[in-house]
Amino acid sequence: MSGVPAIEARGLRREFRASQGLFAAPRRVVAVDDVNFSVPAGSVLGVVGESGCGKTTLARMILGLLEPSAGEVLVDGKRLEGMDRRARARLIQPVFQDPFSSLNPRRRVRDIIAMPLVAQGDVTKAEIDRRVAESLERVGLSTEQGTRFPSQLSGGQRQRVAIARALVLRPRIVVCDEPTSALDVSVQAQILNLLAELRRDLGLTYLFISHNLAVVEHVASEVAVMYLGRIVERRESEALFRDPRHPYTRALLDSVLTPEPGLGVPDVGLGDIMPDPANIPPGCRFHPRCPACFAPCASTAPRITSLEDGLVECHLAG
Ligand code: SF4
Repeated sequence: MSGVPAIEARGLRREFRASQGLFAAPRRVVAVDDVNFSVPAGSVLGVVGESGCGKTTLARMILGLLEPSAGEVLVDGKRLEGMDRRARARLIQPVFQDPFSSLNPRRRVRDIIAMPLVAQGDVTKAEIDRRVAESLERVGLSTEQGTRFPSQLSGGQRQRVAIARALVLRPRIVVCDEPTSALDVSVQAQILNLLAELRRDLGLTYLFISHNLAVVEHVASEVAVMYLGRIVERRESEALFRDPRHPYTRALLDSVLTPEPGLGVPDVGLGDIMPDPANIPPGCRFHPRCPACFAPCASTAPRITSLEDGLVECHLAG
């Protein structure tokens, strides 16, 4: 294994202009703001945060589906910008949240899985058939299931198809964006186990996006916690779950550790102010919700503090 990281994000930033109607000037929304990380080959970086924190925008930039407003992405040591689309597809592939909407309902499973190979343009029919059969088998689907349409499969089987399609080009990196959140809990575990098995057997690297820390704990070697476009804590997984250092990470952990399913999200002291990427607070962007907020937090943005096992962005971290 070379020392080159599988994925590197350097100073990534992405802004959008959000329309406010005919007569008002559009608002500037900073979805991702100066994000830096590197993912060693063969490991899993879990990215967690609430809806709207910028994690899907980040995933789309890492996949080359969205251009950064600033910064750059390197995949396997090569700059993503300007890379040929087919070369990029051989290196990095996505698995999205909702397999039903990401699979063409009018095509049979085997044709859906073959599509990335067909798009390469230089693969023989025999090779396509061989690789499709190999991918079906890897994800635990039969040849007969390959002849069906997506509507004839269960949610878990459809997600297996999406994974088979991602693997058919034998990429080194897979970006999983909420790959289990549309599935029943029992099926979620099967898909997580399958992803873990594939990583081990094929030496894959994952960027694993989720709003659910419990899911990320199951798969990630390192975890990045995002809040309003920034990574506020990035630690080795075991250390983060044992001793979270950022107040936001602690609140997220408290909310997943609720013992009674169905009781709703417990009160973790964050109040009801929802984060708004079009209106980022001054100072520490988490300060309006932070239970540990003190004098400097409302006016001075915290610096990144290096820890033995990662980074945290909070005045209290030192
Ligand atoms: Fe809370 Fe202040 Fe730390 Fe921000 S810098 S997380 S407001 S204690």
